[in-house]
Amino acid sequence: MQNKDTLADTTTSKQSLNHNQLPLVVGVDLGGTQIRTAVLRGPTLLSRVSLMTGKNPSPGRIIPRVYTAIQEALGKAGTTIEQIAGIGIAAPGPLDSKTGVVFTPPNMADWDHVPLRDLFTEHFHIPIFVENDANAGGLGEHMFGAGRGCNNIVYLTISTGIGGGVIIDGKLLEGVSGTAGELGHMTIDWHGERCPCGNIGCLEYIASGTSIARKANEAIHAGEGIELLTFARTMLQHSTTVPDPSALPTQGHDPATVELRFPPEETDDTSLGSETGDEQQEEHLHVNARTVALAAESGIPLARAIIQNAAEAIGVGLVNIIHCFNPEI
Ligand SMILES: [Zn+2]
Repeated sequence: MQNKDTLADTTTSKQSLNHNQLPLVVGVDLGGTQIRTAVLRGPTLLSRVSLMTGKNPSPGRIIPRVYTAIQEALGKAGTTIEQIAGIGIAAPGPLDSKTGVVFTPPNMADWDHVPLRDLFTEHFHIPIFVENDANAGGLGEHMFGAGRGCNNIVYLTISTGIGGGVIIDGKLLEGVSGTAGELGHMTIDWHGERCPCGNIGCLEYIASGTSIARKANEAIHAGEGIELLTFARTMLQHSTTVPDPSALPTQGHDPATVELRFPPEETDDTSLGSETGDEQQEEHLHVNARTVALAAESGIPLARAIIQNAAEAIGVGLVNIIHCFNPEI
């Protein structure tokens, strides 16, 4: 993502004029770790409000919070819902973009055939569009970002999960039921473990942030991660003074960007330990991917092996992607 100053610098006056004629829209990114809402005019970000997804991302808990975040973003942008042309929601797949129903995303517990488009339409009474988050990311890069001017693009997001958005001949590749481009669920190791999607040895189950953390915690529980655990405990002791960059807005300098915080008992996050009291933190210490990456950087062998395994899986996946799609970028 670029901030609006950068975009203004790199945009021709003709394009700026066109952007000014574009309608105001709201964008929502429903992530497994963080949820972001924003008010935009074309590629120009007017305001953004984010919140942590938390450990209980049930629709009943999350959706009302997204409504609140949208209202907050509208206020920050100095506008109202009546002036908004539509809301675009990027949600984790699998989903049906035609009906706006989100099926059962592996990273969103308790989500089962949630009629997201209908729920938002009932609440806001304006046009609502629901798209697979990686597809939306690919389209965004194609229209406004790194993929401008390219008609054959593969967009890969590696985060809580791994998602893909494929644009061929300038069009999003959807497949017969809208689930094409699920690149995170290509098989990398057919002798590997079963992914929550049902397939075996998926790229996502080997190399996503969630998987890196899972492998580290499995090793710790098996008694193989004493050095990593010590590193994590040291990080935990310094966690009040060293903020987690992944939990911060990427455009923190933007005065229109805020993070919405809910009561402490409900803001459980994915950083090191969220229980109250040091003893409970020690007891339930859960190492996240960022800690594993930092531990690898500092030379801890277990962390290096986990990161190397993930990197190799991503390398294999990228070769497969190049062979399948022959993309420009
Ligand atoms: Zn899978």
